[in-house]
Amino acid sequence: MTDETSGLEQVREALTDLAIEDNASIVKQKSRDFFWYSPVLKKQLDQVTGDLVVTPKSEAEVIQVLKACYAHDVPVTVRGAGTGNYGQAMPLAGGVVLNLAELNAIKEIGPGRVTCEAGALLSAIDEAAKPSGQELRLHPSTYRTATVGGFIAGGSGGIGSIRWGGLRDLGNVIRARVITMEAEPRVLDMTGADLAKVLHAYGTNGVITEVEMPLTASYDWVDVIVAFDAFMDAARFANALGVQDGILLKELGVISAPLPHDYFLRHRKYLRPDQSVCVLMVAPFAMPALAAFAGHWKADIVYRSDTADAEEKKGLPPVFELSWNHTTLRGLRVDPTITYLQILYPYPDQIEKVEKMANLFADELPGHLEFVRFDGNVTCFGLPVVRYTSEERLNEIIRLHEEAGCPVFNPHRYTLEEGGMKQTDEQQLAFKREADPKGLLNPGKMIAWDDPDFDFAADGPFLFHGLK
Ligand code: FAD
Repeated sequence: MTDETSGLEQVREALTDLAIEDNASIVKQKSRDFFWYSPVLKKQLDQVTGDLVVTPKSEAEVIQVLKACYAHDVPVTVRGAGTGNYGQAMPLAGGVVLNLAELNAIKEIGPGRVTCEAGALLSAIDEAAKPSGQELRLHPSTYRTATVGGFIAGGSGGIGSIRWGGLRDLGNVIRARVITMEAEPRVLDMTGADLAKVLHAYGTNGVITEVEMPLTASYDWVDVIVAFDAFMDAARFANALGVQDGILLKELGVISAPLPHDYFLRHRKYLRPDQSVCVLMVAPFAMPALAAFAGHWKADIVYRSDTADAEEKKGLPPVFELSWNHTTLRGLRVDPTITYLQILYPYPDQIEKVEKMANLFADELPGHLEFVRFDGNVTCFGLPVVRYTSEERLNEIIRLHEEAGCPVFNPHRYTLEEGGMKQTDEQQLAFKREADPKGLLNPGKMIAWDDPDFDFAADGPFLFHGLK
């Protein structure tokens, strides 16, 4: 028996009263996330699997797991719903997959806030908050499947970002309760500036068991699709609409022809192949204002859910499931050879940059923009579809964007640094030293921990030693 297997056996013995799964095919299935969006990650991570899935039902059980794994040097990778698409939740060093799906109680709803366990689904939180006339400010397009803990540990923003900015903006998370990976795990309630230590840290430096999130007024949002003959017309319309502060929006995205017609199969009847669209979620009271704004632009509203009857709406997904990474998902279902990128078009010349890149790449990168409030200004992220040919060309496309002043958050890398700003987050690293001294939490995702001298300017990705 190797040290590794004996460690796992000892962990299993220490956790006999917990729900443990060791069937290899179920463990592999529960080890996977949406890494396969990327042909590059698909090649690197396809064989990755944990050894055991442990499903705690309480914070006390989470502590029990961390204590046992620490004592026997077994890695732990936390899993919410496994919808991350940077391979965040892939257990590169094997060990325990800590499945938080059953740690999902919604504990308290008050004016402007909700307290819940980390495994609560975002849609379940809104359902519970709805009777009080409230809802979450932000959610990913995976609203119906993703957990709130996974969103704040692995996501960045999404639906609601046009009004509220991103998850890491101060105030968009109130508190996170974090368990450390030590001989005696500590329970820390983090608020204010301290939250930056664990937000979007991929669970590399603590396990979040409970969160407190801000709530805002809830609406029966109206889904709207506006069609345009040219992508740049749609982009300019969205850019102007985004700063109409009186028109309350929850989603403002633009998708270039021919993608809406080719990928949004259930909405196809509203769309021509040569039309680009703007997809919107609009507060009901703002619909007359939206219609007036569209009128000024001579823009064509081809669908609005508030005037569609029940028969027409049957089978139509909500527009948030046409947006953000759902656009890519719908594309992959039609054409599995595509992939995508995530790009920031910085304020104030976002539209010039979008146009320059659209002209440069044409149909190799059909455009997809998501407008957001970024440090108070409205700008857009790009999630263009990439008609993928090779890894070399993909890297060249990334380089050309960066040279044009458009930072790329590379979804073809599984590390925090390469998927982000290509530098170490010193605060997250310092907290990892304190909270996970043996480096057992989600190994391989923080380069600074494994290879402090890694050169981000050199060619080639970081390759975790377990994958080499
Ligand atoms: P997981 O994928 O299970 O985990 C994400 C990361 O967080 C992993 O590193 C995991 O180890 C860690 N983690 C999970 N729970 C905890 C915890 N309790 N404590 C510590 N670490 C933890 N993202 C966006 O930001 N916006 C979008 O609009 C969006 N749209 C998407 C659409 C599709 C179709 C897909 C496939 C992905 C999309 N994503 C989006 C990415 C993903 O859905 C979000 O990041 C989501 O919130 C992840 O939640 P999850 O519960 O699935 O987390």
